[in-house]
Amino acid sequence: MTRSTVARVDLAALKSNFRAIREFLAQSDSEPRTLAPSDAPSHPRTVARRTPDVIAVVKANAYGHGSERVGVALEEAGATMLACADIEEGIVLRRAGVTRPILIFGALSVSNLDGLFEYGLTPTISTPSAARAVQTAAAPRGVVCGYHLKIDTGMHRLGFRHDNLQRTLPDVLGSPNLRLEAVYTHFATADVPGHPLFDDQRLRFEQALTQIDARVPRHAANSAALLRDSRVWYDIVRPGLLLYGIVPPPLGSTIPLQPVMSLTSRVVAVKGLRPGESVGYGARFTAGAPRTIAIVPAGYADGLDLRLERGGHVLIRGRRVPVVGAVSMDMITVDITDLEDVSPGDEVVIMGRQGRESWQQIDVREMAAAIGTIPYEIVCRIGARIERQYV
Ligand SMILES: *Cc1c(COP(=O)(O)O)cnc(C)c1O
Repeated sequence: MTRSTVARVDLAALKSNFRAIREFLAQSDSEPRTLAPSDAPSHPRTVARRTPDVIAVVKANAYGHGSERVGVALEEAGATMLACADIEEGIVLRRAGVTRPILIFGALSVSNLDGLFEYGLTPTISTPSAARAVQTAAAPRGVVCGYHLKIDTGMHRLGFRHDNLQRTLPDVLGSPNLRLEAVYTHFATADVPGHPLFDDQRLRFEQALTQIDARVPRHAANSAALLRDSRVWYDIVRPGLLLYGIVPPPLGSTIPLQPVMSLTSRVVAVKGLRPGESVGYGARFTAGAPRTIAIVPAGYADGLDLRLERGGHVLIRGRRVPVVGAVSMDMITVDITDLEDVSPGDEVVIMGRQGRESWQQIDVREMAAAIGTIPYEIVCRIGARIERQYV
């Protein structure tokens, strides 16, 4: 049984995006990198750096795309490692057949840690209490648990403060059942062009690295940082959004990416409105002249944002038509007065393409901009009720 509203996830596009990102990293890597004098590299670094590896970020059910199929596809495409938010997400990936290392981003101090060991997941150690918790869980099992160390360089969320490492690190690095495998940080303003915190964080990270003896891989770059500054590629990059074919606004990119998800539905009913009649909860859209409305069976329970009422469009018969009236739990209403011959069963594109022209596409960035949010939120919120069809 399939509902009218479905999310199509194009795994070939996903893999192609992964390869395009890798090619971008490889090509740009062959160009000489100019390091400003203040960028004294903390680790001895040869001039010809190798192309960074890729940790493919598949947290939040792979940004709503479905982490099981997406995780396996990215592993096939060559991701060095996958990353997700918590142990539960890591277990889903393992059960789906992912064999590559899986990094858990989240804080683990209050989690049940059994899954780390049973499913061979790699924790992030970002607080002293997480270090103690994982050490305490690893010791009786007689195992040494590899981990990535997170440094807080200015996000002030998770991670060991960059300016307090001398006090906090010895305990962690000295834990007998923990093995440091990589060091990382996370940028707060990679997608805020010109924000000074970005460079501050980079320099603090490099300073912090000088205090860690071990020669382990370093990583820092999310999608925006990867696009913005090759100096923060280090040994591994961590793109999420780019993999799904979306460039984080307001940045631009020349990487040839394809959108991975599209969201389509079908018209279920067509209704005439007479002048003065309104449609939907709150009667917020009133017809001035005779209007024709199509009812589309997807609403806020499916992740459609209430703000689509002002500024949202869908495609029907290759034309853009506005959402009118309130977004309901299970339905939206769109104004098809200017279209002819719309009938129940006609395809409705909520996100994606319906034709070759540029205006026959509703992309996630445009949708986010129209309603004042970010593309991340739109794809992550596509509801559990919507079937993901993999093509
Ligand atoms: C989500 C996340 C990423 C990926 O971010 P994008 O902006 O989607 O590329 C990278 N690193 C960490 C720690 C994250 O939480």
